[in-house]
Amino acid sequence: MAISATPPASDFIRDIIAHDHASGKNSGLVVCRFPPEPNGYLHLGHAKSICLNFGVAAENNGCCHLRFDDTNPSKEETEYVDAIMADVRWLGFDWGEHLYYASNYFQLMHDYAVTLIKMGKAYVCSLSADEIRSYRGTLTEPGRESPFRNRTVAENLDLFARMRAGEFAEGSHVLRAKIDMSSGNVNLRDPVIYRILKASHHRTGEAWCIYPMYDYAHCISDSIEQITHSLCTLEFEDHRPLYDWFLDQLRIFHPRQIEFARLNLSYTVLSKRKLIKLVTRGHVAGWDDPRLPTLAGIRRRGYPPAAIRAFCGRIGMAKSNSVVDMALLEHIIREDLNEQAPRALAVLRPLKVVITNYPADQVEEVTVPNHPNRPELGTRQVTFSREIFIEQDDFMEVPTKKFFRLVPGGEVRLRSAYFITCNEVIKNGEGEIKELRCTYDPASRGGASPDGRKVKGTLHWVSAAHALPAEVRLYDRLFTVASPDSEAGAEFTDHLNPASLETLANCRVEPSLAAASPESSFQFERLGYFCVDRHDAKPDRLVFNRTVTLRDSWTKIDK
Ligand code: ATP
Ligand code: MG
Repeated sequence: MAISATPPASDFIRDIIAHDHASGKNSGLVVCRFPPEPNGYLHLGHAKSICLNFGVAAENNGCCHLRFDDTNPSKEETEYVDAIMADVRWLGFDWGEHLYYASNYFQLMHDYAVTLIKMGKAYVCSLSADEIRSYRGTLTEPGRESPFRNRTVAENLDLFARMRAGEFAEGSHVLRAKIDMSSGNVNLRDPVIYRILKASHHRTGEAWCIYPMYDYAHCISDSIEQITHSLCTLEFEDHRPLYDWFLDQLRIFHPRQIEFARLNLSYTVLSKRKLIKLVTRGHVAGWDDPRLPTLAGIRRRGYPPAAIRAFCGRIGMAKSNSVVDMALLEHIIREDLNEQAPRALAVLRPLKVVITNYPADQVEEVTVPNHPNRPELGTRQVTFSREIFIEQDDFMEVPTKKFFRLVPGGEVRLRSAYFITCNEVIKNGEGEIKELRCTYDPASRGGASPDGRKVKGTLHWVSAAHALPAEVRLYDRLFTVASPDSEAGAEFTDHLNPASLETLANCRVEPSLAAASPESSFQFERLGYFCVDRHDAKPDRLVFNRTVTLRDSWTKIDK
């Protein structure tokens, strides 16, 4: 089945934007933005937002900005900025010249705050953080007004200027919007818009010691950039009245905020806070560990960016939160790789087979198709010889009922090569199987039956003398439960899958793989999809990561 690379025909957001575009609202311009906070690496949830924002902008001949929402100095780092740009590009999107930083607007945000003070719409409050919290009230009780709420404009201007000048300690004063302490929406109960933070910022350095809060900074950044449609996740729905309030008070360009459901995915966690824990506590080997749902991780795992875009298109946009099954993502990855990935022969756990009637000094090239249904990808020559490796678990001395592979006295096909029959099992002193002695049928060249006789099993193999050693990392899901987040009474890390990585150091792969470029993907026949590790593979050291198995083995377990 081919993957639909095209976005869904419509969804409620695309309908709104197409309607605005067609009706000439905002002069027919569509400008979106993807606004990550550079406090961690991007994950699959962000991919949904990236595909949406860049996607709808392109569909409406508009543009999409990449804006770093870097208003919180303490948690942000340049490493994250660089990684985020690399990840957005990898996913296939381009912001062109539209790269922005919210920190570039600090002066303007400050000036708008002064405007609000002058309008009597903002005041300096000197309650402590705890007091502000207790004055705020609850969902059922209205808040109480701060005793500092009625400071004069002059007093507020003076205090705010001194806050900005660094005269006060952190926590001693904040600037708050003056809205409504009895509002049913707690976000409107005089939210804090500036706080004192004596922290160095990754771009502005020591220039500021007051920093704007998210709700204030975000709508102003959107407005400054003349964003027409500000698409965000559902938890901001209750913040929308505040978004609108700031822009209405300031009478500046007013984007339309529209909320959509965030992506939740089973068997993983999509929250930067949790991902940071996994990285810093060493549960995984860094932000690009192939088990993580970070874009850097899935890239290294071998998930093709086109398949991620197809996935984001297929899950669609909803107005209520739900959990998408990891099996769907893996299904789409398989679909893409089945179509795209060339085939290769690799043996992960080698068992030597000596073909006793094959001349010791003979080698021959057998022709193997690169793809079963894409003849245009051609064929290649793979060397066959007297000693080969097959997969250990393709042989059973005492076979179980449905075992159709190699058994003593049994015959199987070696893919594209010959039929072989097992005559003898050689063991070491501990009784472990070390080698099989087989004979081949010279009349079965190419793996075709010479006389109509059938064999049930077809095995993959490599020539012992020609195959190259390789390290293969078998990655599996990082968690053993579908919702590691919400299992009662446990930390999400209690559900880490102890078998999420198995490293096989002694694999053998066909020689053509020496030329494979970093990140290229292959189907190792009968085993799954694998990619060349982009960091550890070197010309003299082959390292492959398992992207996904050929079939879903998890769905069964759940049921
Ligand atoms: P996290 O909860 O992981 O910290 P965040 O929302 O704080 O995520 P930001 O860097 O602020 O992370 O997010 C940038 C953009 O990506 C925002 O517009 C946000 O709504 C969107 N986004 C983040 N997580 C998801 C998700 N799971 N599904 C869809 N969009 C998301
Ligand atoms: Mg955030």
